Amino acid sequence: MLRLIIGLGLTLVALGLAGRRVRWLVRLASAGQPAPERVEAVRGRLGQAVRTQLVEVFGQRKLLQWSVPGAAHFVVFWAFLILGTVYLEAYGALFDEDFAIPLVGRWPVLGFAQDLIAVLALVGIVTFAVIRLRNSPARLERRSRFSGSHLGGAWLILFMIFNVIWSMFLFRGAATNTDNFPYESGAFASEAAAVGLEPLGADTNEVLETVGLLLHLAVMLAFLVIVVHSKHLHIFIAPLNVLFSRRPHGLGGLLPMRSNGKPLDFEEADPDTDVFGRGKIEDFTWKGMLDLATCTECGRCQSQCPAWNTDKPLSPKLFVLDLRDHAFAKAPYLQAAEEERASLPDQVAKEAERPLIAPLDEGGVLDPDVLWSCVSCGACVQQCPVDIEHVDHIMDMRRYQVLVESNFPTELNQLFKGLETKGNPWNMAASARMDWAKGLPFEVKQVGSDVTDLGEVEWLFWVGCAGAYEDRAKKTTRAVAELLHMAGVDFAVLGDGETCTGDPARRAGNEFVFQMLAMQNAEVLTEAKATKVVATCAHCFNTLKNEYGQLGEHSVQLEVVHHTQLLNRLVRDGRLTPVAPARGSGNGNVNAKTVTYHDPCFLGRHNQVYAPPRELLEVLPGATFTEMPRNSERSFCCGGGGARMWMEETIGQRINDNRTTEAVATGADQIAVGCPFCRVMLSDGLTAQQAAGTARDEVEVLDVAQLLLTAVRRDAEADEAQPPA
Ligand code: SF4
Ligand code: SF4
Repeated sequence: MLRLIIGLGLTLVALGLAGRRVRWLVRLASAGQPAPERVEAVRGRLGQAVRTQLVEVFGQRKLLQWSVPGAAHFVVFWAFLILGTVYLEAYGALFDEDFAIPLVGRWPVLGFAQDLIAVLALVGIVTFAVIRLRNSPARLERRSRFSGSHLGGAWLILFMIFNVIWSMFLFRGAATNTDNFPYESGAFASEAAAVGLEPLGADTNEVLETVGLLLHLAVMLAFLVIVVHSKHLHIFIAPLNVLFSRRPHGLGGLLPMRSNGKPLDFEEADPDTDVFGRGKIEDFTWKGMLDLATCTECGRCQSQCPAWNTDKPLSPKLFVLDLRDHAFAKAPYLQAAEEERASLPDQVAKEAERPLIAPLDEGGVLDPDVLWSCVSCGACVQQCPVDIEHVDHIMDMRRYQVLVESNFPTELNQLFKGLETKGNPWNMAASARMDWAKGLPFEVKQVGSDVTDLGEVEWLFWVGCAGAYEDRAKKTTRAVAELLHMAGVDFAVLGDGETCTGDPARRAGNEFVFQMLAMQNAEVLTEAKATKVVATCAHCFNTLKNEYGQLGEHSVQLEVVHHTQLLNRLVRDGRLTPVAPARGSGNGNVNAKTVTYHDPCFLGRHNQVYAPPRELLEVLPGATFTEMPRNSERSFCCGGGGARMWMEETIGQRINDNRTTEAVATGADQIAVGCPFCRVMLSDGLTAQQAAGTARDEVEVLDVAQLLLTAVRRDAEADEAQPPA
C-alpha cells in the first residue's frame, strides 16, 4: 500500500509540474502569428504526413545521415518507445505485484525486446558520452559542433537515461527473485541481475523490488520534469515539428510573406495591423516558435554552415538558441494581458524592449552581422534532424530590416537600384541583353522578332542577367546555345523582354522589388505562352520553378529544367555525343584530365539535382571525375547565395577561398560548375590563389556545358564559342 501511495504521489507532483510547463509553452506559442496553411497542408496530405512520421521520426532518417551518432540515437529513441511497456508494468505493479500486460505481458519475446533495447540504449549513451568527449568545445573550440550548446544539460540527460536503465534492472532482477516477474524466459539481462541479487536473500530482494520500482518511477518522473524544462523537450515536440514542417524537403522556393495567417498583399497591406517579416519575436508564427523550442542543440547545422566555418558570427544553431532564449525570457510579457504588463518585473520589461536585430552592445538579440552573413545555402535545413527552417526565419527577418527599418548593408543599395531601374543587378541596359549571341554561327531566335510566341518552339532558353551581362557567364550561355543548336533543339530566348527573376532582391529581403520583377516576368512569360524553360543559372532555375507559382493571380506554372538536366537527356538520347578528349578552353590546357564538380546550392540542396551534371562529367572521354570531400547534400557554398554576391565579405575567411582550396586540393585540372554565381565566386577564389602561388596556373573554372561542348565538337576549337574580343 505504501508503495502505491508513494508512486501515485510522485506521479501527481510530476504531472502537475510538467503540465504547468506545457501550458506555459502552449501560451507562448499562441502569442505568435497564426499559420493556418501549415494545418491545411497536413490535412491535404495525410498519407504523406503518416509516411513522414514513419520515415523521419520512427526511421530517424536524417539522424542516420551521420552513422555512429545516428545509430546511437536510433536505439535510444526506440528504447523510449519500447521501455514504455516496462513503465506500464511498473505502474501495474504498484497495484498488483503479479501484474502482467494483458495478452502480451508474459510473452518471452516482449521480455527479451525490453532487455535488449535497454542494453543497447546503455551502449548508445556510452557512445554519446565518447562523442561528446571527443568533440568537446574545450578541445576543438569553435570547430566543435557542441560549441555554444548547453553541455551540462546534455550530460544530465545521459545520466538520467543511465538511471532509468539500472533502476529497471534492479526492479526486474529483484522481482524475478520474488517470483513477481511476468517473464519466465527471454528477459536475459533481468535474469542476469536476478542472479547477482539472489545471494542477498528473499527478504532483501522483496525490499529491493519495492525500492527498485519506486526509484524506476521516480527517475522517469524527474526525467519528465527535466525534459519539459530543457532542450530535451524535442523528445515530445519533434514529431509535431516534423508534422508541420515544409515538405517535401524544407527547401526549394522561399515562402511568401504572410501576415495574420494570410498571404501579404502589398497593395492592401495595413502598416498598423500587418506584420512585414519578423521584427519582434511575436511576429514569428506558432510554427516558428515550435522550431525554436524543438532545437536539440546537436550542432549538425553549425558544423555544415559556411558562415560559421569561415569564422563569421552566424551559426544556425546559435541563431535558434538566441531567439529561443529571448522568446522564453519575454514570455511573461507576451502571456500577460495589456493592463498587467506595467507591473511585470524590470528584467522582463527590459527583455521585451530588446530589438531583435541590433549590435549586441546596444542590446540586440542578434547582431546584424549574424543576419547578413547567411548565404541561404540550406545546409542547416538539410542537416537538421527535427526539420527546423532556419532559412525562412533568416529571410523573414531580413524582410523586416529592409522593408520596415531600411537597415541593410549599404552595398545592397546598388543592387536594389539596378534591379528597380534597369531590371538587372549589373545596372546594364536591356538593349545589351543579346550581346552574348554576337558572332555565333547560327541565329538565336528571339520571341517577338523571330517567333511570335513560344508555341513555335520547344523550349524557352532563360538566359538570366549573369548569362547576358557577365563575361564569364556569357561563355556558358554561348556553350549551351551551341549545344542545343547542335542537338537540333528548337529554342528561343526573350532577349530584352527578360528581366531579373528577382532572386537577389528576395534573398536580400526586398520582397517588394522581387514582386515587381516577378510580376513583370510572369506577364511576359504568359504573353509569350511559355511552358518549358531551360535555365543555366541555378538561382533563376529555382525561382522560375518554385516561386513563380506563388504570385496569386499572376502565377505561372512552368516546366523548368537546368541546362545540365536537358544536356544530359540529349546525351542519353544520342543527340549529343562526346567524342573528343576533354580540353580546357581558356588557358591552352589541352591535356586536362581530372575534373571536379562544385554543387550549386540552389540546384543541389534546394532542388535535389545532383546526378545530371555528374553524369555529364563522367561521360567526358579522357577525363577523370573526382569528388571534393564536401559534395552533393553536404556540399559547401561558393559564398554567392543569399544576395551575398553583392555584399562585401569582411569577416573571417572568404567563403569562396575556403571552397576553392578544397577544389584545388583534389588535384583537378578543371573545376566544373553549374551556376554563374558559383563560377564568378570560384573563379575569383582561384585567381587569388594562383596569384598567391597556392594553385597551379593551369587550373580553370568552367561550366559543365563548356566541358561538354569541347568534348562534343570534333573539328572546331572550343574557343569558337567565346565572345568576340
Ligand atoms: S543557410 Fe547556409 S549560411 Fe545560412 S545559416 Fe544555414 S548553413 Fe549557414
Ligand atoms: S537547429 Fe537542428 S541541426 Fe541545428 S542544433 Fe538545432 S536541432 Fe541540431
